[in-house]
Amino acid sequence: MDRVVVVGASLAGLRAAETLRNEGFGGQVVVVGAEQHRPYDRPPLSKKVLAGEWEPERIYLRQPDSFDELDVEWRLGVAAAGLDLDGGILHLADGTDILFDGCIIATGAVCRQLAEQSRHAHVHELRTLDDSMRLRAELSGGDHHAVVIGAGFIGLEVAATAKQLGNRVTVLEGAPAPLIRGLGPEMGAAIGAMHAERGVDIRCGVQVEGLHEDGVLLAGGELIESDLVVVGIGVVPATAWLDDSGLEIRDGIVCDATLNARSIDGGVRRGVYAAGDVLRWPNHLFDEEMRVEHWTNAAEQGAAAARNLLAVSCGNEPEPYAPVPFFWSDQFDIRVQFLGCSSPEDDVHVAAGSVDDGKFLALYRTGDKLHGALGVNSPRWVMKMRGSLAAGASWADAIAVAENFE
Ligand code: FAD
Ligand code: NAP
Repeated sequence: MDRVVVVGASLAGLRAAETLRNEGFGGQVVVVGAEQHRPYDRPPLSKKVLAGEWEPERIYLRQPDSFDELDVEWRLGVAAAGLDLDGGILHLADGTDILFDGCIIATGAVCRQLAEQSRHAHVHELRTLDDSMRLRAELSGGDHHAVVIGAGFIGLEVAATAKQLGNRVTVLEGAPAPLIRGLGPEMGAAIGAMHAERGVDIRCGVQVEGLHEDGVLLAGGELIESDLVVVGIGVVPATAWLDDSGLEIRDGIVCDATLNARSIDGGVRRGVYAAGDVLRWPNHLFDEEMRVEHWTNAAEQGAAAARNLLAVSCGNEPEPYAPVPFFWSDQFDIRVQFLGCSSPEDDVHVAAGSVDDGKFLALYRTGDKLHGALGVNSPRWVMKMRGSLAAGASWADAIAVAENFE
């Protein structure tokens, strides 16, 4: 390969470019990014940056001179607009083309929006540094009634930061409990109760009818008055630019176990890999197809995609990517950490500590196997479950491990 193009200049894209160099690739590496910024870290956007405790300079993923050391051509502030796989050509929105031999797609995800959201100046979303700085300018005064739509990760992290800045905060969620997708209903409700104790008004099971110039209108006619609304209702993979590419897209780029992108004719596309929030792949460790929207996966997958692209180009075997997924979330003084997977059907058992004390380990069971482990303010306990998850431990063995925790 003479030239590899990485599409998406964020965490997964940067880790892919770094790995190409670390593994000795001597050809040209071009990184294309729609944002003007060099790769930066998103987790602080809803926490330290939003709170005004950190300035943007602190969140770049490398020091300025070490970005240059990577010997990468950065094409920033221009989006990829199309992919011609047979020709090996990436088309950019400014009309220019890049020829490539290898391609790693890491375009992440974009926020889902409510109808006519962009018409309302007081309605915010949070994905980028620019979004965070706009929202921070509003919240810093501490004198708003902030209404957050969606009690997922964005919703609860923004709610915590906004409350800590002195704002009154109401969260509106359509599901019966917060964080159902991430933690399931029982543990989602436990985290929701912790927010309520800290002064956030969490209203679940409410249907938002639409946005209004004076706030948010609920089904049934109630108007929640607010001059500051944050919409955190999930994301969609950033694949619109791939619609005519011939790649298989199904809520994300469909990849095989080695992160090699599949085409609509059913085969894999030689030389085209994907990494991060944008793709779904079969994780053999859990025997599940997944799309993961968290930091650790994007970082590890960027590196794995680059290694596999290089391996295949040298005639070597690529390795299946089969990690134990992990994420964390900081809300007030609550540190949530999760290893493995969860589904709303899982049985959940508090195996150490107690929910009432705000420090506990909960284990998730699918069939007779351990599926996931949630730690709330208990990093040592949750991390000790990694071995059990990686080994596909039975439920009985997992419970026996946790019984020794003090
Ligand atoms: P992204 O970070 O979404 O980056 C994709 C990049 O591609 C973007 O810069 C985008 O502009 C660019 N792009 C898109 N389309 C194109 C195109 N056509 N051409 C060129 N470039 C394009 N995870 C955790 O585990 N813990 C946390 O505490 C946590 N906090 C978070 C807080 C916030 C506010 C957000 C938004 C996310 C948080 N996450 C957290 C999730 C984590 O940040 C993401 O999983 C991670 O950023 C995904 O990385 P990525 O590189 O796959 O995609
Ligand atoms: P999310 O975690 O998917 O949560 C979105 C929530 O909004 C869900 O509970 C969803 O319920 C609800 N919802 C959807 N439509 C709604 C509506 N019309 N009215 C009210 N509620 C509605 O997504 P997010 O919180 O927006 O986060 C965006 C992305 O950033 C995700 O990829 C997330 O993983 C990532 N992120 C991660 C972290 C972290 O890991 N700590 C922190 C911040 C952000 P249903 O599921 O029932 O639709």
